[in-house]
Amino acid sequence: MDRQQEFVLRTLEERDIRFIRLWFTDVLGFLKSVAVAPAELEGAFAEGIGFDGSAIEGFARVFEADMIAKPDPATFQILPWRSEAPGTARMFCDILMPDGTPSFADPRYVLKRALAKAADLGFTFYTHPEIEFFLFKNLPEDGSEPDPVDAGGYFDHTPHSTAHDFRRNAIMMLEAMGISVEYSHHEGAPGQQEIDLRYADALTTADNIMTFRLVMKEVALEQGVWASFMPKPFTDHPGSGMHTHMSLFEGDRNAFYEPGAEYQLSKVARAFIAGLLRHAAEITAVTNQFVNSYKRLWGGVGASAGAGGEAPSYICWGHNNRSALVRVPMYKPHKGHSTRIEFRSLDTAANPYLAFAAILGAGLKGIEEGYELPPGAEDDVWALSPAERRALGIEPLPQSLDEAIKAMERSELMAEVLGEHVFDFFLRNKRAEWEEYRRQVTDWERKRHIAVL
Ligand code: GLU
Ligand code: MG
Ligand code: MG
Repeated sequence: MDRQQEFVLRTLEERDIRFIRLWFTDVLGFLKSVAVAPAELEGAFAEGIGFDGSAIEGFARVFEADMIAKPDPATFQILPWRSEAPGTARMFCDILMPDGTPSFADPRYVLKRALAKAADLGFTFYTHPEIEFFLFKNLPEDGSEPDPVDAGGYFDHTPHSTAHDFRRNAIMMLEAMGISVEYSHHEGAPGQQEIDLRYADALTTADNIMTFRLVMKEVALEQGVWASFMPKPFTDHPGSGMHTHMSLFEGDRNAFYEPGAEYQLSKVARAFIAGLLRHAAEITAVTNQFVNSYKRLWGGVGASAGAGGEAPSYICWGHNNRSALVRVPMYKPHKGHSTRIEFRSLDTAANPYLAFAAILGAGLKGIEEGYELPPGAEDDVWALSPAERRALGIEPLPQSLDEAIKAMERSELMAEVLGEHVFDFFLRNKRAEWEEYRRQVTDWERKRHIAVL
């Protein structure tokens, strides 16, 4: 047994922890959990815990249903919303095949594989997500619009509001679980919140995002409200994104930073952005995985009553340009190491492991192949006419799940990054979602046509 495992076993005794939840994530990014008693843990560290993978989305075909969950002791945390004694703790797991080799269906393994590839090239991948979500008073079961908890807007500070107490409690709970928060504020839509997590390596960030979603839901329930990460709940308000700031480090050195270069962006950073742009369409089904995600990727507030609210819809980059897919934030001379880029299409309903693997894969491809970065877009790309955008070589992001699926189907990069199993399962699942959506006759159609046609 190693020192981390011993630490976990000792803590269980000292803190009277009777329940240990073993967490993992299915291919679509839903959290799965199996609780074990402390007595089982030594065995779980040694050999893992067996479970039937055939019932988990994307995990196994029936003939390979037996899977093993092996807890990662580095992710041990006590769950602060459960009682103190006896307490409950959690660990994320790696999923193994019965013969002990990593399961190709495990999203955490997909990300680990992508990170190992970055490490071969000498890089560590750091990420800092800006997580947006809604707080609702109710969740109507008939699919009608829920009531947001407040009518606040961007950066509003409303005294004694639910949202204010909520953010305070939520941040305390995240910090109690070792997740550092950098900023939080009310976002642009009624009931919409944003909490930004501190920089961490991408595997830690992905684990933290999985924890974050659960913590938000638990804190909301404590306050009698509901948290939702649905990308676009309202037609006429902005949706929820997860803009993610990212950089590659070589040891202690930020490989994106080059003093004196344009925007202090190194060659590595420029090639990474070029990779993101060239492969943007192919990775979008993973970064924006639901039919609903594409209602958010609509463009500027002025674009229509659809109120995209600063979600990107065109494939371009820009310096401090909030309409671009990739934004290079303003350089702060006192923070040389903070040179980074912001990737803006991602939403919080994505599977964070697969999304980070796809983004990293696209960026590394740019570095390996030495892609040239096209000129940046300094205009508001939503305000340009289609002809002007064409003249600048600016293509739209996929405009529906259907378009995104088609771009992914043709992508060698995505087949390689996700591995054949996840690639096939994901596409099959998403095609089924699109077909189901496509056959719906909507309220909008009936309202528009039934009387006049
Ligand atoms: N809600 C916007 C989005 O969906 C982002 C607003 C902002 O933080 O700039 O991407
Ligand atoms: Mg925001
Ligand atoms: Mg942002």
